[in-house]
Amino acid sequence: MTALRWPKSARAACAFTFDLDAETLWMARGISEPVALSQGRFGAVEALPRILDLLRSFEIRASFFVPAWVAERYPDAVKAIVAGGHEVGSHGDEHERVSELDATREETILRRSVEVLTRHAGQRPTGYRAPAWQLSERTLPLLARHGFEYSSNMMDRLAPYLHPEVDGRRLVELPVSWVLDDAPYFLFTGQRAIQSPGPVLQGWITEFDGIVEVGGSAIFTFHPQIIGRPSRFACLRELADHVKRTPRVWTARLDEIGARVREQA
Ligand SMILES: [Zn+2]
Repeated sequence: MTALRWPKSARAACAFTFDLDAETLWMARGISEPVALSQGRFGAVEALPRILDLLRSFEIRASFFVPAWVAERYPDAVKAIVAGGHEVGSHGDEHERVSELDATREETILRRSVEVLTRHAGQRPTGYRAPAWQLSERTLPLLARHGFEYSSNMMDRLAPYLHPEVDGRRLVELPVSWVLDDAPYFLFTGQRAIQSPGPVLQGWITEFDGIVEVGGSAIFTFHPQIIGRPSRFACLRELADHVKRTPRVWTARLDEIGARVREQA
């Protein structure tokens, strides 16, 4: 694919994406202890409203990936996300690792995710992000067959691209990276120290600037329960400010970026 053209003669694209895992981030690790789970609840009840306010103030429309379990547990959170003009994408049921599922279970969970999100968000999800960014070799063809438009999982490029055709359909890939994710720096599981927010923010800004330089797509992945703590929320605000002040960057939802890529295919 030749260099992508973005709207308003932008030279690069940027997306703010949030994985609203809530308790499932811990449940998927086999944890049922109440204090550990309460960290997940913080994301849905305490952090999400502030994140939505921040996005509104910067006029950023974002993409939220929500496990089906979370949509059923926090229906008002899904409503608030949709009311803010944001996208709701598919992210498993209880945040199970797709790479560990058999074929039947993987498809059952995908169907349930589509059904639950469609019911709560009022719109069928068109994007898929695998819990913990782990796919099986069946996942991409399965998504294509179930009518998805894009995957936001792979880490092989700085700009979006199209996957090979499956049953007459090609999925758009909107590539991500652990570098632009908050979890590797801040998720605390008792095994290593939490990092200071300042240097992490500087790293994100440098990575963003580099992606803009090559005309790619800077796709940030945040978790409300992680980025929503006040010290990190301050980073999110500074980052949004930096992105919005950078000339000729198109900040959009992943489904909008995906549609733009497909148009040019
Ligand atoms: Zn997740």
